[in-house]
Amino acid sequence: MVKDKLNILMASSEMEPFARTGGLGDVTAALCKRLAGMGHEVKMFIPKYKSVYQTGIKAKPSGQNIDIKIGEKSFRITWETYTDKAAGFEVVFIVNDDLYMRETIYHDSRTGLDYPDNDERFILLSRAALEITKKINWRPDIAHAHDWQTSLITVFLRTMYSGDPFFEKTRSLLTLHNVAYQGSFDSSSLSKLNLNGEAEGRTRAFKSGGKVNFLKAGINFADIISAVSERYAVEIQTSREFGFGLEQTLRNRNSDIYAALNGVDYDIWNPATDKLISPNYDADKLEGKAKNKKALLEKLGFIKPKEKITERRPLIGTISRLVDQKGIDLFLEIADDILGLDVYMIALGEGEQKYATALRDLERKHPDNFRAVIGFDNKLAHQIEASADIFLMPSKYEPCGLNQLYSLRYGAVPIVRETGGLADTVSDYNAQTGEGVGFVFKNYSSDELLEACCRALDLYHDENAWSALVKRGMALDFSWESSVNTYIELYRLALGCDRESQKTDTQEVVAT
Ligand code: ADP
Repeated sequence: MVKDKLNILMASSEMEPFARTGGLGDVTAALCKRLAGMGHEVKMFIPKYKSVYQTGIKAKPSGQNIDIKIGEKSFRITWETYTDKAAGFEVVFIVNDDLYMRETIYHDSRTGLDYPDNDERFILLSRAALEITKKINWRPDIAHAHDWQTSLITVFLRTMYSGDPFFEKTRSLLTLHNVAYQGSFDSSSLSKLNLNGEAEGRTRAFKSGGKVNFLKAGINFADIISAVSERYAVEIQTSREFGFGLEQTLRNRNSDIYAALNGVDYDIWNPATDKLISPNYDADKLEGKAKNKKALLEKLGFIKPKEKITERRPLIGTISRLVDQKGIDLFLEIADDILGLDVYMIALGEGEQKYATALRDLERKHPDNFRAVIGFDNKLAHQIEASADIFLMPSKYEPCGLNQLYSLRYGAVPIVRETGGLADTVSDYNAQTGEGVGFVFKNYSSDELLEACCRALDLYHDENAWSALVKRGMALDFSWESSVNTYIELYRLALGCDRESQKTDTQEVVAT
């Protein structure tokens, strides 16, 4: 019999408001809150990064230590707990300043390179989460891991802890937010898992291209796997373009892969209540959006303070991690064409230097109507959503995507490529039927992106049609309601799953 109320161990490398580089942080926070709201007991395990100290929160020290061996080294951790009353779940901060007290989460900002000990940092997170639950005698029904950074939890449960009565009934779910990031390390990292003999004879479950691959191992050992949109769940199994070399491993688990679309936390991303924008507005008070736009245009120096806007000139916005995935190269190819038109544009992003430089160069070339803001700025992100008429998201691939969902609610019409969650959530505008909420292009081609932009800009000048389009998008509801129920169903499936019948690399190799 599966219990009504579950103990859910969550573990992630990101969670808003403590650590966030992209959508993962939004999603883990919102999901925990929803699950707790349904009466489940949720504990979220994340490292105590420098950014956590910087929030100034007062977490409660446990006063206890655990020594965890990673390879031959021993790492001492302690932990602190914090419950935000409104959110209703407990955050457990894992404290080890040597490993986590750094400027950024994943890489050295001076060199742009990943920290060389990322394997140890995230092995420690996964092990610590399990060890702490034992120490405090809190038995998880479900261990829910997110991406490669915590995927090893699913591995440890079925190897190191498989004979441990404490975890006998614990089942795991691994959610794939982005398969391109796999936690791929030198083969010597395998010994850091301290699986002793257990990894031998089944190295295929752990290795890909001669390297130890944490995500691959997680995919092989998780009881159930989920992807963050229907389309992405299929895409990652079909080709290298989306599976990044793990497509066969994923195909082997085909019958255990499900989809749960990310939702939006409308307590945070709602123009009617958003504290980071001014004034608030909704679909019936779109003058409020125009005021946000005017304020941002002033702030960016595109118009003078108090200047009256007489012409109808759209503001295009984009907010993005500056990485290949996001289609920035596609935009750069046609940027001169777009910025040669009667538009304003702002791009907010942080990431690879080559994109930051290209965007800054573009600003120098188009000082009158283009701004590049390089960095992570949450307040500005909200203001862009509230001000923009059009939101650009031409991703090469997109597991789910949140910004197009925020844009819909804020009345910034999204231009997206038909991939992953973008394909699942944005329907193309159809002039004949008057249906659709955005502009969608199919192939990863700058010509197609330009064509979609031109369609949007043309329609922008038909005020009535545009306003109807904006309102259709604002009326859509991507709240967590249905997705959180999907997760509960997946947990129940995991709790009832028959491990013996699962076909994974693990069993294949063990059998030979
Ligand atoms: P991904 O997870 O691939 O980065 P998503 O669209 O799912 O893409 O989520 C991106 C999230 O990160 C959104 O909440 C977005 O506002 C935020 N974000 C991304 N880059 C920045 C930035 N430079 N400044 C502020 N917020 C950002």
